[in-house]
Amino acid sequence: MAQLNRQDCERMDVDDPLAGFREEFALPEDTVYLNGNSLGAMPKKAMAQVQQTVVNEWGKDLIKSWNVHDWFHLPQRLGDRLATVIGASSGEVLVTDSTGINLFKVLSAALTIQPERTKIVMEGSNFPTDNYTAQGLVKLLGDRHEIIFAEEEAIVEAIDDSVAVVCLTQVHYKSGRVLDMKAITEKTQACGAVSVWDLCHSAGAMNVDLNGCNVDFAVGCTYKYLNGGAGSPGFLFAAKRHHGKALQPLTGWWGHKAPFAFDRDYTPADGIDQMLSGTQPIVSLALTEVGLDIATRADMSLVRRKSQQLGDLFIRLVEQLCGDYGFQLASPKDADRRGSQVALAHESGYAIMQALISRGIIGDYRAPDTLRFGFAPLYVSYADIWDAVSQLKDIMQNEVWKQEEFNRRLAVT
Ligand SMILES: *Cc1c(COP(=O)(O)O)cnc(C)c1O
Repeated sequence: MAQLNRQDCERMDVDDPLAGFREEFALPEDTVYLNGNSLGAMPKKAMAQVQQTVVNEWGKDLIKSWNVHDWFHLPQRLGDRLATVIGASSGEVLVTDSTGINLFKVLSAALTIQPERTKIVMEGSNFPTDNYTAQGLVKLLGDRHEIIFAEEEAIVEAIDDSVAVVCLTQVHYKSGRVLDMKAITEKTQACGAVSVWDLCHSAGAMNVDLNGCNVDFAVGCTYKYLNGGAGSPGFLFAAKRHHGKALQPLTGWWGHKAPFAFDRDYTPADGIDQMLSGTQPIVSLALTEVGLDIATRADMSLVRRKSQQLGDLFIRLVEQLCGDYGFQLASPKDADRRGSQVALAHESGYAIMQALISRGIIGDYRAPDTLRFGFAPLYVSYADIWDAVSQLKDIMQNEVWKQEEFNRRLAVT
């Protein structure tokens, strides 16, 4: 294959139909940000939004803001906007709580659909909070259920007529591998089981079609590819056919049919509102809208195509420039089977990533040996990929990573 150079990458940027979106993000000079799969970049409008919500709304209108600025319906309003990005309908999505809490809610609801069945199929190598949350729920329910942990190839085989729920993450947090949501959901439902999908690494990075795949429930977060800000609320999706039937158990007042009647007893709200629990972090929710506003204007097919091209370019440049340094590709090479990130395995991965970060190339490290590079298509350029891989080459060629300062462990990797 022909050798590429930086000018080739710059030309790809000139031809990029999404290039204009980069202007909407504040990115520090001299930084190549390849960690949007963990914490998305800051939209330039974020500060103005905080000013509006904190100073103009909270500061001036105080408690009236629940009505005059409609704070009370932010979870539904943002949910309706997000619905357009993930193939859901209006009234099926809420932006609320954290991913883990939302998973607890929808998994509980899903388990009520086939109450006599006790098996939950999950992926053992999934991001741990999903598994921990399911384990906590199983304990709470009296250890009546069994979690069947299956890995990639074994998942479809593990689904049979005894399974209650299949709960999977579409894009693997470490390898970036994409599961076939449509085929797995079809198998799940053919066996009479219920599907729950985690979209943490897919929402905002690729075209997701929840209703096209007939998914039952889904969750995800907004601080990764949806650029909602650190710790911004997660989201949940419940297909309309389950509303009023499969209920979640965190039955707080926001999920009550008449929250301001202050009744003694719980009566579930209609529709998606039953999935709410309590008062939401309004400042954080308001910030989430800035990121969502950008995502709703981006054509997700173009986003997906660019994400695949960025990944392909990265892999090709690592082969071209870093072929001698012992990196193993830890993601699918086939772009159709890969989300918006590429993982490389290397036994000195931690120190190599620290050396990269010291030079402004921001990726991250996942134990025991994985360097992760995330490509958020709305603000990462093809030239960024060139710069990242050429720095990686320099660090390896000159053994920069061996310096003591890069071998000290920090709390957050
Ligand atoms: C990022 C991520 C989470 C995060 O969950 P929080 O509740 O926001 O901490 C959960 N699951 C997966 C698969 C993730 O990638």
